[in-house]
Amino acid sequence: MLSGVRLMNKAEILVIGSGPAGLKASLSAAEQGAGVALLERDSFLGGQLVKQTHMFFGSKEQYASERGFKIAEKLNLEAEEHPNIKILKDATVLGYYEEGIVSLEVKGKFATIKPAAIIIATGAQENTLMFPNCDLPGIYGAGAVQTLMNVYGVLPGKRVAMVGAGNIGVIVSYQLLQAGVEVPVIIEAMPHIGAYHVHASKVRRMGVPIYTSHTVLSAHGSESLEKITMAEIDQDRNPVTGTEKDLEVDVLCIAVGLTPLTEILFQAGCKMAYIPELGGHVPLRSDNLETSVPNIFVAGDVGGIEEASAAMVEGSIAGLTAAFNLGYGKESYSGLLAAAKRELEHLRRGPVGEKIRIGLESLSSFVEVK
Ligand SMILES: Cc1cc2nc3c(=O)[nH]c(=O)nc-3n(C[C@H](O)[C@H](O)[C@H](O)COP(=O)(O)OP(=O)(O)OC[C@H]3O[C@@H](n4cnc5c(N)ncnc54)[C@H](O)[C@@H]3O)c2cc1C
Repeated sequence: MLSGVRLMNKAEILVIGSGPAGLKASLSAAEQGAGVALLERDSFLGGQLVKQTHMFFGSKEQYASERGFKIAEKLNLEAEEHPNIKILKDATVLGYYEEGIVSLEVKGKFATIKPAAIIIATGAQENTLMFPNCDLPGIYGAGAVQTLMNVYGVLPGKRVAMVGAGNIGVIVSYQLLQAGVEVPVIIEAMPHIGAYHVHASKVRRMGVPIYTSHTVLSAHGSESLEKITMAEIDQDRNPVTGTEKDLEVDVLCIAVGLTPLTEILFQAGCKMAYIPELGGHVPLRSDNLETSVPNIFVAGDVGGIEEASAAMVEGSIAGLTAAFNLGYGKESYSGLLAAAKRELEHLRRGPVGEKIRIGLESLSSFVEVK
């Protein structure tokens, strides 16, 4: 057996995924005294945070005004130094089997773990678009563009058209501009801009037009992307004839939303519901984030697409409760849990939290999880 896995088999709580949700879940459970095994398929910890060079909003508790990758560095260090946390990187969880056995692959070797509780914090995958030649080299998801630029220091191209005026599309456009790349357009299918206005105003001030009610019709190029055709769309999302326009670009960056990475939840037999406002299929869960399968918890984007700040608080709630169920933190649990719930409620207030509130409301109309 892999030596790292032998150590992990002694852990009581298995956390899958080391983004902000998984890191906070590990730390909260470990601080209560539970033994935690944290598995991450990448060779580094931090999930999406490591790509985020911009400053965060929110409260001081949620690292407002700090840059995403700096938050990741802090949390990584805390987790790596914590005596109750065992970390295994390059470790991909492959499946969940009967009797709570989890299988994983680490650098070509396979192993199993049987923890007492599991916190699934696998995050999300990017959505994409289908159009003629959508597989030409030069057409990327926003995550890939961010990884190239912000993790590896490589520019994706010289002139990038962005699809999607939500926070991700607008923030990545800003980062491209900062890196000296030309962004001639942001194309958005909705009739309005989804990003925070502070971000959208910033890119507009830098000369980037945002075309709402528009889409990409096709891409052109022989070896790689050379040109796109875009057009206006009507309220049924059909292209308006005569509005087609060609634009020369060497990169098309697609930022059209995320879908929760829920395979392990399905395998474990957790009850699921399709909630568009949360990004797709998500698990039914209690207020403390326990799914319909006892001692399997969720935290972060895997339970509904939101933000790193909310993912961290959800991680804390799941970590505290998983530890409490195993007999840890009897005295401090209710106070810490109440504080985390207040924070989450605060983050979800106002127009910013409207979508998630609607999604959670729909989810609660399904069978209740005790
Ligand atoms: C461009 C951009 C800008 C953003 N800006 C902000 C912002 O300003 N403020 C904010 O609050 N949020 C922001 N967000 C959102 C935020 O990054 C996400 O909501 C947050 O990272 C979700 O955290 P998570 O831990 O649930 O998932 P992730 O950060 O996605 O982490 C999931 C982890 O799980 C690992 N994993 C997945 N499957 C497996 C498996 N089978 N086995 C092992 N490991 C696995 C992944 O490798 C990954 O490391 C932004 C996102 C993007 C893309």
